[in-house]
Amino acid sequence: MNTRSTSVDRATAEHRVAALLKQAPLEFARAVYGINDLAAGRADTMAAREVARAQRQGMPVTEERAEQRARAYLPTVGQEHCPRCWVVYGQKIPLRFRQSTVERPETAACHACGAEYATAQDA
Ligand SMILES: [Zn+2]
Repeated sequence: MNTRSTSVDRATAEHRVAALLKQAPLEFARAVYGINDLAAGRADTMAAREVARAQRQGMPVTEERAEQRARAYLPTVGQEHCPRCWVVYGQKIPLRFRQSTVERPETAACHACGAEYATAQDA
């Protein structure tokens, strides 16, 4: 069991999952930008670098595969994993939640790719 999530109430946990689910199609769109950027020789965009990194790791990203994975993205409460790592790399990397402060709403961060997602109730 993940002890970090035991203090989170059910509504918060479900909202996190809902917020992350919305990110999967955005990560798919981003992957497509990356694929197109690379194909057009624009290798220095953020999205292109992500796709190039996946290729170097032996995980070539195609539009079709990224779309399939985006549709299959299914985070569950206590097992929230990074949408970008899933869509681009096909890897389940657990997200770390950073609780909200006065200055900033709650976010979920991925240590593997550096993505950060807003998961607050009013996000
Ligand atoms: Zn990630």
